[in-house]
Parts: sequence; C-alpha cells; structure tokens
Amino acid sequence: MAEQIQRVYVPSAIEDGGNTLSLGCFSSEATAWNVLRSFLKKSDQMLLVSASVVVWDIDVIGSHGLTVLASLECKDCPVCSRQTFWVDLENFSALCHGDACAAWVEESTHEPGVIDCGWPALRFLKQTKSIEEAFKELFALGDQIKAAGITDTVSIQASEAMLDEFENLT
Ligand SMILES: [Zn+2]
Repeated sequence: MAEQIQRVYVPSAIEDGGNTLSLGCFSSEATAWNVLRSFLKKSDQMLLVSASVVVWDIDVIGSHGLTVLASLECKDCPVCSRQTFWVDLENFSALCHGDACAAWVEESTHEPGVIDCGWPALRFLKQTKSIEEAFKELFALGDQIKAAGITDTVSIQASEAMLDEFENLT
C-alpha cells in the first residue's frame, strides 16, 4: 500500500487585482518549488504581485493546518527591467527568474550583515553593507548594460566581451 500523504505543498501566485492562480498541490516541497519557479519565469508576461508556497497538514480543521513556507513579492528587475525579480520576504533574498538574467541579492552566509549581489551572465559579484546599496549596484549594472545596447536576447559570449569593457570602465 502506498504511504499515506500527511501534508501537501501548495504553490500559488496572486495577480494584480487580487486573483489567485493556483498551481496545484504536491506531495514534496521540492516539486512545489520547481513548479512555482518555472511559472515565475514567465511572470513578465502577466501582472503578478506576489507568490507563496504553503504547506497544509491533511485532516486538520481550520488554519492550524497551514504553514507559510515562503512569501515572495514581484518587483522590476534592476538589471533587465522585466517584472521577473522575486523577493523572498521571510528570509531576505531576491532572484530574477527572467530568461538569461538571474540577477540576485542575498545576505552573505559567511558574514552576517553583509549583503551580496550578483549577475551570473557577467560573473558580476559585489558585497555591500545594505539591501539598498545592493539594489543600487544592480541598477548601475543594468544602466551599463542598457547603455551598451545589450538586451536579453544577446548571447552570453557578447555579454562576456561586455564584461571586459565594463571592468575597464570601473
Ligand atoms: Zn532580470
């Protein structure tokens, strides 16, 4: 007999206007996250304001059975400007889910109080003292990229050539 499911993991997203988009319910947290992440890749084609992953215990009446694992808020990406930058409000971290971007901000795991930010496409990585400063760094990078005429459709090779130029500038 198959093991009985005790908990279900439920990812969902909320549209501008308050409509909830249900993405299903899953027996593992990893699957729920995979479903949500692949959905958020296309968030620039929709008007989403937030998303969450919650877990429901089976056969519990009322909200005691509900635990919120993560609440995410959608922002414009500082680097690619698409509405694909998702900020995790519980444990501060942010990641752009847009194609070929993946700009991120996160508290350093090694040094408490230090905020790291980066953009993998250019292997850009900076340490800052605050979240605001980290966003400023990413906005500055985004401006450089736009000024150089690099768009999200451009190949990584072209981006790497841009990196050398960018490093010479700074
Ligand atoms: Zn981005």
